Amino acid sequence: MARILAALAAMIGALSIVENVFNIDLRIDQFILRDNELSPPGRRPGLMSPATSLSFMSVGTALLCLKARKPSIALWAHWVVIPGLFISTLALMGYIYGVDALYQIRLYTTMALPTALAFFILELAIMGSDRAYGFAGLATSDTAGGVVCRRLFPALPVFLFGLGWVHIAGGRAGFFGYQFGVALLVLLSMVVCIIAVASTAITLHGTDVIRKRAEVEIRALNADLEQRVYERTQQLEAANKSLEQLALEDGLTHLANRRFFDTYLEAQIAIAMRFHRTLALVLCDIDAFKAYNDHYGHPKGDECLKQVAEAIRSCCRRPADLAARYGGEEFAMVLPETELAGAIQLAEAALEAVSRLRIPHGYSPAGPYVSISGGVSIMSGNADLTAKQLIAEADQRLYQAKRLGRNRMIALKAEPDPSQSRDGRPSARAS
Ligand code: GH3
Ligand code: MG
Ligand code: MG
Repeated sequence: MARILAALAAMIGALSIVENVFNIDLRIDQFILRDNELSPPGRRPGLMSPATSLSFMSVGTALLCLKARKPSIALWAHWVVIPGLFISTLALMGYIYGVDALYQIRLYTTMALPTALAFFILELAIMGSDRAYGFAGLATSDTAGGVVCRRLFPALPVFLFGLGWVHIAGGRAGFFGYQFGVALLVLLSMVVCIIAVASTAITLHGTDVIRKRAEVEIRALNADLEQRVYERTQQLEAANKSLEQLALEDGLTHLANRRFFDTYLEAQIAIAMRFHRTLALVLCDIDAFKAYNDHYGHPKGDECLKQVAEAIRSCCRRPADLAARYGGEEFAMVLPETELAGAIQLAEAALEAVSRLRIPHGYSPAGPYVSISGGVSIMSGNADLTAKQLIAEADQRLYQAKRLGRNRMIALKAEPDPSQSRDGRPSARAS
């Protein structure tokens, strides 16, 4: 409804201008005030002046656009009100200064004082009504622009208006002549402008100095914060690394733990199948370790575990080889891209490495020193084997080795071999 009324006001203004320019009578002025016999012939008392028509157009259009949803249109309301403000201010000044010409020149033919005053107030209200896109938002903001607006806008027009009045009134009273009056007006205007600009500049300078100081402080704070974030990140990364290590490493032997072994074996099986490569797995178990613990004590047992672990680890030379603690006194070696012969070689090397430790074990049926037994399982690149199957096969052979007297490695499901190995123990190796 408001928009319709605003459009109507703008339209009436526009039609009145048409009436004036083309000297036609659309009888708009007859809506409210009818001509009567008292009206002088040829005069139309209701016909508004072109200045009033323009003001109607200006205010009507501004109200139509004011607070429109589209920002560019909402902004337009504040531009379009300016001509109206100019017209009404000029008319008002004419009344206050007592200069007829200002409101009675051809364009202004009798713009009434109440009309001029009403338009003036309405136009100021329009300018002050929209904080989102209008002048009011700028004037009330705490930015430098806001400071300038608040300093200069009320002060300058009021002062200059006052000076004009002094000039006219002084001239009329005969205090000074025209030229002197103009000189005085110009001089005082300059003084007022300079004072207003200088005071604004001083205020802005002050806020700018404070802002710059704050910026320097913020930059220093930022640098400090960044440094702290960097340090914290380093600490976190280090903590993460050690946590990762803790999660994947066996605490006693520092070999890969069971969790890492499981993941690694799955991954290596997948790679082996994808690229048709072989993969070997060796499972070892310390012989008669329960007896070792029982007779030498658990601390000694732990020490023994560490040494055996290190001996087995030292046999894994290739980057992809992995030595892991599979269970209590059980170890595993994952050997990617390793043929049966190579796997047997490594299993035998581990056997040798443990026996070279020469850890006395007076209660082992397998010999005077700590020894291990092991089983080797192999997966050819074409076989579709799961980790479970590979482990089960190695485990089977490990128990075969145990059954055959311990301190040996078995690589195939072999029958007990009557032939003796070089150190006298029965061997059931694959050839
Ligand atoms: P076998 O030759 O048949 O393997 O006999 P074993 O005694 O080694 O077999 P068993 O499985 O009966 O014993 C395993 C022992 O390993 C039992 C347990 O006390 C010991 N053990 C397991 N983990 C640890 C450990 O972390 N530290 C110590 N000190 N001993 C462990
Ligand atoms: Mg065991
Ligand atoms: Mg054992």
